[in-house]
Amino acid sequence: MRGCLLLLLLAAPAFAAAPLVVIDPGHGGEQVGASGPEGLIEKNLALAIAKKVKAQLEKELAATVVLTRDRDALVHLSERVLAANKKRPDLFISIHANSMPTAQQRRLNQGIETYFLSAAASGEEAKKVAARENAELGSQPQGASGDTLSFILADLQRSETHVDSSRLAYSIHEQLISETGAQDRGVQQAPFYVLMGLEAPAVLVEVGFVSHPEEAKQLVDPEYQGKLARAITAGVKSFLVQLEARDGPSMRSRKSE
Ligand SMILES: [Zn+2]
Repeated sequence: MRGCLLLLLLAAPAFAAAPLVVIDPGHGGEQVGASGPEGLIEKNLALAIAKKVKAQLEKELAATVVLTRDRDALVHLSERVLAANKKRPDLFISIHANSMPTAQQRRLNQGIETYFLSAAASGEEAKKVAARENAELGSQPQGASGDTLSFILADLQRSETHVDSSRLAYSIHEQLISETGAQDRGVQQAPFYVLMGLEAPAVLVEVGFVSHPEEAKQLVDPEYQGKLARAITAGVKSFLVQLEARDGPSMRSRKSE
């Protein structure tokens, strides 16, 4: 009898409703992002990985997945946030790849970092990553710039999702490191524009360094991209299970009340 009960528990869905996830492939169009050896550019890599994550989330979690761009197009950072909020997603994941400026740093730096939003970066490197990823803000429509720090602080104050963003970051990061065996550069915090103003738990994943000779080869390998997608999906699943254990079922239906 006890065995039957266990079987029933195992067979039951881990969470009640199909999640709605927004995946944000970094850069696009004239904003190429970081570049690496042999013509590897971040915008293309981010889109390829995002599509794999979408497919995996649909397959494994019956998720509805919306991409902020599904082709090589320029989408402003603020438009990404607005479009995502309109969908009222359960969570938001931005996909990026990292790079280093000097030859020596390019040889030495590899691995995965997962970020969530904070006003102050968790270190000098995190600060540089956010500065690089925010650089395209120069091409934003009017009104998107301003007093960055006060924007972020206001955002964090009104955001009930900040703690959940941190939880989501740890869930995804843990899976990414165990699935890929990549160097663990940790869960970090930094002021990324694309995470500001999101009304859902939101993270930004730096999936690896396009500037590292070996890691660049892995990043363009469709099999390795599949590993990244499986890991991100497993991280999302584990996060949703935690959330449902805390808040109860039907997060989607609760939201539409
Ligand atoms: Zn990027």
